[in-house]
Amino acid sequence: MKRKILVLAPHTDDGEFGCGGTINKFLKGGDDLFYAAFSLAEESVPPPFPKNILETEVRAAIGVLGIPVENLLLYKYRVRHFASHRQEILEDLVYLSKNIKPDLVFMPATHDLHQDHSTLSIEGFRAFKGTSILCYELPWNNLNFATQAFVKLEQEHIDIKIRALSCYESQQQKLYASPEFIRSLAVTRGVQVGSHYAEVFEVVRWIL
Ligand SMILES: [Zn+2]
Repeated sequence: MKRKILVLAPHTDDGEFGCGGTINKFLKGGDDLFYAAFSLAEESVPPPFPKNILETEVRAAIGVLGIPVENLLLYKYRVRHFASHRQEILEDLVYLSKNIKPDLVFMPATHDLHQDHSTLSIEGFRAFKGTSILCYELPWNNLNFATQAFVKLEQEHIDIKIRALSCYESQQQKLYASPEFIRSLAVTRGVQVGSHYAEVFEVVRWIL
């Protein structure tokens, strides 16, 4: 059965890092994917890139993954200030919940160390009370992470994840942006379940 799947990303590239391979696999399986990013992080863009570069980059990255551009939802909350806008973010999420009616939501872990990530995750839990929720792994922000649900992936999914993340030219200085790291993590998670590659998730709620 075709599912509606919503990926919640605090900042534009979080969803691709957390579940880019899974997004591509599920799209190829016939599911509808929606991607909502809550900040273009204009204050964190390094010079000489234009302040709105992440909007250009997320459109390109989403296209590589295969998500139709009309399913990309962009919000412009100030980076590192999500907690001050908790209620507005919750209202945006409730709107998405009512209008998209997703069968499954991906979001950051509730104990993710980044303040924007944890705010979005906690509000996401509030907004999607009747929905299956899986939290994606961002190892540089996770003090610990319960490896509870795995999506087995093929090389093509990881290659596309790496290609999508390479669209973020403004973010290539980050250690975790290296293709070697992205592939190694997928190999590590694959080994846990007898697959060449995988992505792993914490289960917040699973409705069968
Ligand atoms: Zn982020």
